[in-house]
Amino acid sequence: MKNNFLHEEPLIFEYPVSDNSAVDFDSPLGESENLGGIKRSNPIGLSSLSEPEVVRHYTRLSRQNYSIDTGLYPLGSCTMKHNPRLNEKMVRLKGFMDIHPFQPEKTIQGAYKAINLLSDWLIDLTGLPAVAMSPAAGAHGELCGLMCIRAAHEHNGENERKVVLVPESAHGTNPASASLCGYSVESIPCNSKGRVDLDALNNRLGDDIAAVMITNPNTCGLFETDALRISDAVHNAGAYFYMDGANFNAIVGRLTLKQLGVDAMHINLHKTFSTPHGGGGPGAGPTVLSESLAPFAPVPFVVKKNKNLFMVEHSGSNQSEFSIGRMKGFHGQFGVFVRALSYIMSLGADGLSQVSGDAVLNANYLRVRLSKYLTPFHNGTCMHEVLFDGSFLDGTGTRTIDFAKAMIDSGFHPPTMYFPLVVEGALLFEPTETESRQSLDELIDAVIKLAKKAMKKETPEFFENSPVNAPRLRLDETLAARKPILRWTPNPVLKAAE
Ligand SMILES: *Cc1c(COP(=O)(O)O)cnc(C)c1O
Repeated sequence: MKNNFLHEEPLIFEYPVSDNSAVDFDSPLGESENLGGIKRSNPIGLSSLSEPEVVRHYTRLSRQNYSIDTGLYPLGSCTMKHNPRLNEKMVRLKGFMDIHPFQPEKTIQGAYKAINLLSDWLIDLTGLPAVAMSPAAGAHGELCGLMCIRAAHEHNGENERKVVLVPESAHGTNPASASLCGYSVESIPCNSKGRVDLDALNNRLGDDIAAVMITNPNTCGLFETDALRISDAVHNAGAYFYMDGANFNAIVGRLTLKQLGVDAMHINLHKTFSTPHGGGGPGAGPTVLSESLAPFAPVPFVVKKNKNLFMVEHSGSNQSEFSIGRMKGFHGQFGVFVRALSYIMSLGADGLSQVSGDAVLNANYLRVRLSKYLTPFHNGTCMHEVLFDGSFLDGTGTRTIDFAKAMIDSGFHPPTMYFPLVVEGALLFEPTETESRQSLDELIDAVIKLAKKAMKKETPEFFENSPVNAPRLRLDETLAARKPILRWTPNPVLKAAE
């Protein structure tokens, strides 16, 4: 049976050109044209479709997508949770949606108040005294934190600090942001328990180190139990402690960053505080800053004077003497702020700590049930995501990628594969708190069924040829990334018509 979603759907421009139209236009009155001789002489070349054809086109395209609205999305490191519709309703309120940043300030006080309210929540939840709201994503927040760190070192005359230390297991954006900020990057190994090797870190700390960037919980899904020792060592060496907060979902409401001695951390609002982000955006990466880094925060930011709110737009004013300047047009990703605020306020403080509790519980449920068949990277509890290595497939003739691709035919999005890089054949599952026990069981049963099939070693070609039931099968992802085709060229029929 051919699935309807496997229909090969052409681009809308590739439908045959015809005189069909969903609307009837009267012929223009009169013969004269007022176009000064630039009248189109070729046919326009657009397909004209009836309403049912248009509806089918877009509905079919939407069905080719796997999304959080159609099924569990266990992509580790990405926090693909349900996005409550309430957030969408709030962001579409006229007072939020129909405003413009160039409006007189007194007409957008409500929007400023929303930004301020969200800042207050982020400050409360992290325990750090300041937050830069404008960074547009996690990676942009990393850059923001590092630019503040660089400005602080320069302010203190410590210009010789040129190196940022990043653990081997770090997300690729960490070294990339440090390098973009002009630092050279050195990696620190992890120990056999998947955590930062404290001795190696201590040995490398010194006068040339500007900052240490650590993800906590880390990309192996483990809490950095030495976080306090790390921050003490980093501070004793005169460097700053950057914490990558993309995994905040695992600890929100449970501990503050002040307790961990953190100087800067970005929060991926689109992950922890729910905004649809599967297609690469928009996101928001507000960055919380310690007292020593706060003076360097980027503009703009909201301040209160008498009863009114104002936006400090330029560096060098009274309130922004040491600011690193502007990182983003206007005031940041306002729509994402409203969604995050709606999510935070509808859950409340108690609901937010239940989020982290349930996220960790769900990941451990997967860990325990899957560990009989897959090989956990670490023995013992994990945080919000569970990491397996590829050794359960040793000798089966099936590789991690083949196993993951076979999950597509079982109706699931595969987990993150081959990341973190330090774990061979890694499979990283992050179920998030919004999955029910029933949906977790469905995923687990599907994975166990495939694991048993792989263990039998009878059908490695079944895995090699997977998936078979998908709009696109195996893609050359390297080619797609290196040589993307970004321009559509008209098909021959249209060319002939011109
Ligand atoms: C997602 C993620 C980032 C980058 O965040 P973006 O919002 O995608 O720029 C950085 N670090 C970790 C650990 C992440 O999971």
